[in-house]
Amino acid sequence: MTQVFNFSSGPAMLPADVLRQAQEELCDWNGLGTSVMEISHRGKAFIEVAEQAEKDLRDLLHIPQNYKVLFCHGGGRGQFAAVPLNLAGSAGVADYVDGGYWAESAAKEAQKYLTPNVIDACTTVDGLRAIKPMSEWQLTKGAAYLHYCPNETIDGIAIDETPAFGDDVTVVADYSSTILSSPLDVSRFGVIYAGAQKNIGPAGLTLVIVREDLLGKANIACPSILDYTVLAKNDSMFNTPPTFAWYLAGLVFKWLKAKGGVAAMDKINQQKAELLYGVIDNSDFYRNSVAAANRSRMNVPFQLADSALDAVFLEESFAAGLHALKGHRVVGGMRASIYNAMPLEGVRALTDFMQDFERRHG
Ligand code: PMP
Repeated sequence: MTQVFNFSSGPAMLPADVLRQAQEELCDWNGLGTSVMEISHRGKAFIEVAEQAEKDLRDLLHIPQNYKVLFCHGGGRGQFAAVPLNLAGSAGVADYVDGGYWAESAAKEAQKYLTPNVIDACTTVDGLRAIKPMSEWQLTKGAAYLHYCPNETIDGIAIDETPAFGDDVTVVADYSSTILSSPLDVSRFGVIYAGAQKNIGPAGLTLVIVREDLLGKANIACPSILDYTVLAKNDSMFNTPPTFAWYLAGLVFKWLKAKGGVAAMDKINQQKAELLYGVIDNSDFYRNSVAAANRSRMNVPFQLADSALDAVFLEESFAAGLHALKGHRVVGGMRASIYNAMPLEGVRALTDFMQDFERRHG
């Protein structure tokens, strides 16, 4: 089979080595004669898998001891509800920074549980979409927390600044589409959450990293399966966790460690993004509408100057083994998602194709 590169935004490409290992041990995991997804989550064998995955994740992100790592259900959108249900306390207000589609969606969901003070962080720089620096965000005094999304998967907008608002501001971040892609100072955050289906593993698993002093404050109406305190007390096994996704995430963490960890990924991700944005910027045929400082290294949306060619581009790219390049319906155009599992050669295959397409259709 010819090599296919999958640019899907999520569920997204997984490392080929990981898939091969999962395939090899699918029917007979660890000499047990069954697959890992057929054994009890409470048995010793699975608990070892679960603990090892957590340990590897802790190593990769240097997660401090005073943080719990939760392996949950419910996806990013589940956390849009879980965050206010766990953290609102008596404040009744939380700050929500609006930098794109997902941040806005989080604020909308939170509205069911508290009053979100929406901080519009969007601006333009030379006509390109940008995010105001954190120093210009107008925080609300007494707000329960500040929520933002460091990587907007649809808009292709990143906020790379490290939050430094002081100890009395609890920062919550939706890292769904950028976790493990570059180093991250966990200690600056109260809660970090991420759906697994982009940089971690298959859909169905959601990671939550929560500082311990934030536990014990959940709203009485918070469903137990979303309650950080209940999940922490039960080692994420209050109910049956997504065991296969947890196992596979563990394989991805091992793969990441073998590749040199998050710092090594950061370097490759930088190279991949520079290559792709370079081709876009050096042409009048393609364009990206995000200012340089806020360009995502994970999700690269781009438009063809002549949108009448969109369908041809998608058809030809698919035939060339470059899959899932169609932009999100709310943005249109194209989008290449280039998470950790996408190798540099995949991005090179895409840029070669783009340049060839331009020569033939430009
Ligand atoms: N946040 C971000 C940044 C996302 O990209 C997504 C999904 N693409 C979500 C939240 C929602 O995640 P889920 O579909 O797992 O609920």
